[in-house]
Amino acid sequence: MQPNMIPVGQHKLPPLPYPYNSLEPIISRRTLTLHHDKHHKAYVDGLNKAETGLEQARQNNNFEYIKYWENELAFNGSGHILHSIFWTIMAPQGTGGKPGQNTLFHINQYFGSFNAFKEQFKTASEKVEGSGWGILTWQPTWKRLEILMAEKHQNLTQWSGIPILVCDTWEHAYYLDYQNNRRKYIDSWWDIVNWYEVERRLLMAFNGQVPLK
Ligand code: MN
Repeated sequence: MQPNMIPVGQHKLPPLPYPYNSLEPIISRRTLTLHHDKHHKAYVDGLNKAETGLEQARQNNNFEYIKYWENELAFNGSGHILHSIFWTIMAPQGTGGKPGQNTLFHINQYFGSFNAFKEQFKTASEKVEGSGWGILTWQPTWKRLEILMAEKHQNLTQWSGIPILVCDTWEHAYYLDYQNNRRKYIDSWWDIVNWYEVERRLLMAFNGQVPLK
């Protein structure tokens, strides 16, 4: 097992990096306590449950509830990841400093100016439909930042994941050849996977961290 790998169903609620009252008056102790201890905790519990449910499905070779568990996995996994980041990107008023050299460089390079970035980020966060997040993300494929809105937490990803193997299941990918038999397409597709490239992408994703044993 990788030294830092989190085993199935073993996620833990990370402690807040500061006391519950230290973001006052901007975020009250009561809000922060509920948000961290109840809401974030529920995502951690839901993620552990989904991973355990999927482990059982693999053991029983019974994927009847795959859509339910995958939805739970994405919703709670993304909720856990985003909240874990959220706590650490806040600090008591007056202690968070100014945008760093690299942050400023990449913001200016792509968004044109810090003010333009700030307006887009705030407006994107404001305009998310329903519940969600404004997210500044580094896009490793294009080597630049981007601002995204996320509805709920996921739809249907886990943020910070890097694609290693992808299967296009839009009808345009198979309909002429397989009509509505998506499973037959996927079974056949499996035989043309380039595992050398999958391995290369995995090594690339490690990016110097966590070398393979
Ligand atoms: Mn939240």
